Amino acid sequence: MTGRGWKLPFKLLGIPLSLDPSFALVLPLFAWLISSQVPAYAELLTAVGIEIDGAALSRGIVPYVLGLSAALGLFTSVVIHELGHALTARAYGVATRGITLWFLGGVAQLEDMPRQRGAEAVVAIVGPITSAVLGALLGMLLTTLTMPAGVTFVVAYLAITNVALALFNLLPALPLDGGRVLRSLLALFLSRERATLIAGGVSQVLAIGLGVYGFLSLNLLLMAVAFFVYNAGRAEVQAESMRSAFEGRRVADGMGRDPITIDIDMPVDRFRALRAWKTHPCYPVVDPDGQLLGVARIADAEGADDDAGLHALLRPAETIGADEPLEVGVRRLAASELGRLVVTDARGRVVGILGKADVVRALEALR
Ligand SMILES: [Zn+2]
Repeated sequence: MTGRGWKLPFKLLGIPLSLDPSFALVLPLFAWLISSQVPAYAELLTAVGIEIDGAALSRGIVPYVLGLSAALGLFTSVVIHELGHALTARAYGVATRGITLWFLGGVAQLEDMPRQRGAEAVVAIVGPITSAVLGALLGMLLTTLTMPAGVTFVVAYLAITNVALALFNLLPALPLDGGRVLRSLLALFLSRERATLIAGGVSQVLAIGLGVYGFLSLNLLLMAVAFFVYNAGRAEVQAESMRSAFEGRRVADGMGRDPITIDIDMPVDRFRALRAWKTHPCYPVVDPDGQLLGVARIADAEGADDDAGLHALLRPAETIGADEPLEVGVRRLAASELGRLVVTDARGRVVGILGKADVVRALEALR
């Protein structure tokens, strides 16, 4: 759910925003769900003192317009919630790669978690606080302004959902905000690994509880959320055990040494012939001084023009410094397109390759 998706052509406070393909399904679904509930919501709002004529809002295309506006408002609210996280992380010096909207809400992809004591709790808690404040502000609009019934409906819907969003995210289950707060607070007294294990256990119990409740009440969305929380919580625990296994290790400790580099002047037909005796899909290409120029894929050489030379096949290399933490290398590798990172020294020369097999070997050696 990360990296892929449709990137919007603008940034919010310097942070790119993208839509996961599942979003194309979920926006009309939410719009339709809300529009089909307009009379019920109107009744509910009237019961809490916000007079809305449900019958008038249920005629013709009105409910669909309301549903679409409310759904768009809901996703905007999620983006604002995620911006809360991203800006707090920025205050700790951690950048955000982007905010992605997907099936079950939003994710702010932080480059890293701030390592300061308790910082994760602060970054996490700001999300629900942002939503709660937004809900309160919208609530104040309702009580101070007289607006047309349709606008009142959408504003009231968003006021309530923002408060619900805040409360839901406070559930102490990883990877929800509440789970992060719990983990970060536990980590004040315990090792981070132990804190993650405990928070992960709490998450699984909560997820199973949510799932059973969703099943008994035939709430499909709740069941989907429970399934997501269960899996994501487990992934979080695995990521943490990997992190602690690689603790203190550098890329240089895990990489494959003596990498095969390809000279930029190698004829294309000879490069293509590498396929016969080596199994790597791509190789780093260097100039006569050993400086990395990029990578070339064997697959690209298949139909290539021999006279054009290797220059025509060059792609940007995904590189990492030999001194970077191994954990960072593994994470970059997982997101890498070619499945191999070229390891360079401080002078930009190729000193190794970090591939999946190298990581498996490094893990084996740790046991
Ligand atoms: Zn959040």
